[in-house]
Amino acid sequence: MTQQFRITLLPGDGIGPEITAVAVDVLKAVGTKLGIQFDFTEAPIGGCAIDATGNPLPDETLATCRQSDAVLLAAIGGYKWDTLPRAQRPETGLLGLRSGLQLFANLRPATILPQLIDASSLKRDIIEGVDIMVVRELTGGIYFGQPRGIFDANGDQRGVNTLAYTGSEIDRIGRVAFEAAKKRQGRLCSVDKANVLEVSQLWRDRITALAADYSDVELSHMYVDNAAMQLLRWPKQFDTIVTGNLFGDILSDAAAMLTGSIGMLPSASLGSSGPGVFEPVHGSAPDIAGQDKANPLAQVLSAAMMLRYGLNQPAAADMIETAVDAVLNQGYRTGDIMADGMQAVGCKAMGDVLLQALA
Ligand code: NAD
Repeated sequence: MTQQFRITLLPGDGIGPEITAVAVDVLKAVGTKLGIQFDFTEAPIGGCAIDATGNPLPDETLATCRQSDAVLLAAIGGYKWDTLPRAQRPETGLLGLRSGLQLFANLRPATILPQLIDASSLKRDIIEGVDIMVVRELTGGIYFGQPRGIFDANGDQRGVNTLAYTGSEIDRIGRVAFEAAKKRQGRLCSVDKANVLEVSQLWRDRITALAADYSDVELSHMYVDNAAMQLLRWPKQFDTIVTGNLFGDILSDAAAMLTGSIGMLPSASLGSSGPGVFEPVHGSAPDIAGQDKANPLAQVLSAAMMLRYGLNQPAAADMIETAVDAVLNQGYRTGDIMADGMQAVGCKAMGDVLLQALA
């Protein structure tokens, strides 16, 4: 029986269209092999949407996303739109998409591919075999808490932000993290600052209570300052990490950089119902846009995350990840990950060798 999925493509700006074209070809090839049909609809977001409509997230784009099974986003932004007022900036479109689809969970893997080990700034024996998933709460915590602002304070000024989580917000991100850990090595580390913050104590209590529903996952807790140290000292100890918005913002960047190659990193943002958004961690790379220099692998791996976490098609996800592994083993490299003795290819050619690996 053929399975059918509606995918909204948001290529965005800069290198977005080039890397999206590669990901679409890869998805079609995998779909043909496994009997999955993808119906793609393309919609504008970011700078290209500003140019076309004046709005970085046109209503039609959000409506199209809502009607689909998953959204594959590339990247938005560029020099041209950097000086516009905030409401009309490309980033505002991205934030609007996240809140419009109520994407409260951000999943960012940091996997060391053996072929790219020398791209990391850490020693080989420390990072070899690292495979971490950071699950970050995305719509709560200090980035959204009220009150916030800069206020007068008896002749002085006072800057205020509020770190607050409700129990249900913690449970909802906790469940995503336990489920992700189940699909991985079954170990979950919850990161907080429960020795100082009440909100973290609540976080720890709620996550601990949830563990009763996941007897197949081994739960541990770590303070965020220690987690930052442990990520650099011995990252192999981690499998899945769950944490709040602020800590997750920082730790997911640190974990990602263990891999040393921004052109390789995918991510997923999920809500409780409705489509998730799958996108590379990198931006629109305007410095190399339109020159066939972009590395499409982060976008291709985002498509694999879409299959695994958004559409529940693990076999198709495995197939893509195996193909990425194969082309790296064959020595193909785009400029950002090039090393001595390897075969330099552009974005399109990387797509071609991926299709050969899938054939
Ligand atoms: P960037 O990630 O676009 O680029 C940083 C550096 O990495 C550049 O030298 C770029 O050429 C390189 N790079 C990035 N992706 C690459 C790839 N796939 N292959 C090869 N090289 C790659 O970050 P930036 O330069 O800080 O930002 C550029 C624009 O992207 C800005 O307008 C920014 O606002 C936007 N941005 C968007 C997102 C997003 O859409 N989620 C994220 C970050 C930045």
